[in-house]
Amino acid sequence: MALIVQKYGGTSVGSVERIQAVAQRVYKTVKAGNSLVVVVSAMGKTTDGLVKLANEISTSPSRREMDMLLSTGEQVTIALVSMALQELGQPAISMTGAQVGIVTEAEHTRARILHIETDRLSRHLNEGKVVVVAGFQGISSNGELEITTLGRGGSDTSAVAVAAAIQANFCEIYTDVPGILTTDPRLVPEAQLIDEITCNEMLELASLGAKVLHPRAVEIARNYGVPLVVRSSWTDDPGTWVTSLKPQGRSLVNLEIARPVDNVEFDTDQAKVSLLRVPDKPGVAARLFGEISRQKVDVDLIIQSIHEGNSNDIAFTVTTPILKRAEAVAAAIAPALRSQSNPKSEEAEVMVEHNIAKVSIAGAGMIGRPGVAAKMFATLAEAGVNIQMISTSEVKVSCVVHAAACDRAVTALRTAFEIDAGVSPRTDSPLPLRPSAPLPSLPPVRGVALDMNQARIAIRQLPDRPGMAAKLFGLLARHNISVDMIIQSQRCRVIDGIPRRDIAFTVARMDGENAKTMLTQVATELGWGEVVLDSAIAKVSIVGAGMVGQPGVAAKMFEALAQNRINIQMIATSEIKISCVVAQEEGVKALQAIHAAFGLAGSEKFVIPA
Ligand code: ADP
Ligand code: ASP
Ligand code: MG
Repeated sequence: MALIVQKYGGTSVGSVERIQAVAQRVYKTVKAGNSLVVVVSAMGKTTDGLVKLANEISTSPSRREMDMLLSTGEQVTIALVSMALQELGQPAISMTGAQVGIVTEAEHTRARILHIETDRLSRHLNEGKVVVVAGFQGISSNGELEITTLGRGGSDTSAVAVAAAIQANFCEIYTDVPGILTTDPRLVPEAQLIDEITCNEMLELASLGAKVLHPRAVEIARNYGVPLVVRSSWTDDPGTWVTSLKPQGRSLVNLEIARPVDNVEFDTDQAKVSLLRVPDKPGVAARLFGEISRQKVDVDLIIQSIHEGNSNDIAFTVTTPILKRAEAVAAAIAPALRSQSNPKSEEAEVMVEHNIAKVSIAGAGMIGRPGVAAKMFATLAEAGVNIQMISTSEVKVSCVVHAAACDRAVTALRTAFEIDAGVSPRTDSPLPLRPSAPLPSLPPVRGVALDMNQARIAIRQLPDRPGMAAKLFGLLARHNISVDMIIQSQRCRVIDGIPRRDIAFTVARMDGENAKTMLTQVATELGWGEVVLDSAIAKVSIVGAGMVGQPGVAAKMFEALAQNRINIQMIATSEIKISCVVAQEEGVKALQAIHAAFGLAGSEKFVIPA
């Protein structure tokens, strides 16, 4: 007998017939000897409909009233599912988030869960009832008993949090696709089912645009070791297991906000190669990294900054033993990268920096919690450490700094994030909580994701000194604006006696205007140049824990884009992902090309039920 949490998404409860089918599955699971909490979403597109209604009344409705409105959708479903179960003779009771005691921050429309009271749930379960819980909603902890919601798609998070709180044996997410696929089947019908994926990989995919799971649900599964499976509502097929390491005995208090960072790591065996002024046209990155991979040079971080005039900078890091080879490849290719449309243009210049180190904070939910990266940058600034390169991902933020500053940086970060020096690094090798799973050899690319809801902000001529990233990202964090793909240009220009660089980063499109206005207001005071917003971008990313130590993965991605004449506007990588910004109208084509290039396409096409 197991204690199971099952979550059913909007499509799965989209009609009376589907609710009855859900009730049948629940009934069967109980009859097989299990205890069940069922978490449900609003029926079909109800939540979208409610948002539309609100927008017909107000262009900027109060966030409190939005929560009051949107939380009604789930309340309809819990009652109907409970009735459907009772019709089958199965005792059941529906409960809102407040009735369960899903206690959250008082932050309307994006509240994080603080804790979940389990007494009432347990009492009903012990009485043999199925408890049907409204997903996506909670109640504030500030004594006001405010109804809160967790953010769109948040029912997944409710389900996994309940599973963690009641220590369920596992959590099943039932949806309209057979599981987690190599990419969104609505955009690439040849996407294939993945049997198993690590939490860290799924966290990246979810945050990079794969909406099959809410990223915060994966964070909780990772942090509390909740075995998680995504399955189809229409079949009995096994679906996809999301594997995590053994739980570390985390407290269930401050469930979603405690300890986002669980380790500080560093690597002093690093060197950086930059190519300045490479032409801004399709195929350049493919050529450079194609040659690099033919020479079996394994690169770590790669960045390509936004163009300045008609050229870009590309920089990458390698381990010091292979620096000579990497430098030779870059030097050999630089003359050939001269702009063909302008043969008189300067040729690309190669710059090598030997004495660098990479310091990283590791954990879960870094992008979703903008304050974490901001705290890292502020800590480095206070320790007088200048940041040369930044790499962000949901599971890690890394900064390339001067080697001489490494010890200072690590000590300061360990203190700031309260990490014991003795903590051993948490690796992403899958130790499946699912008992019988074989240890898979990790494929370099597990999945591909497209995010069409991004915007890019560039700030020109930021003074290059410690504290700038801290100021900038601290400001954004205070406005709760999450950033990704932070890229400083490698070119340094001295203006008014101060060395300066451009910095660019991506934000959610809905935050773009806000961020631009706010940053423009402080630009003069902080000595920055112009703030530029571009909303017509798409971010396409590959994710895979197996890409570490495999030369040629980046080259293959860039080559796929080059063959389709798609220009890469920005590149940023972390250990387990590579993201490229391309023009918005080329996003879907880019996704399809990359998915095919990595051999992820299957022979069967998915048909998703309406
Ligand atoms: P639910 O209402 O059940 O929560 P969602 O619509 O939130 O369902 O998530 C399921 C959808 O996620 C699928 O219909 C699919 O279009 C989309 N999706 C995006 N990326 C992926 C992926 N890699 N694998 C599976 N589905 C994906
Ligand atoms: N009903 C909410 C939404 O549409 C929550 C969810 O379905 O996960 O965003
Ligand atoms: Mg969903």
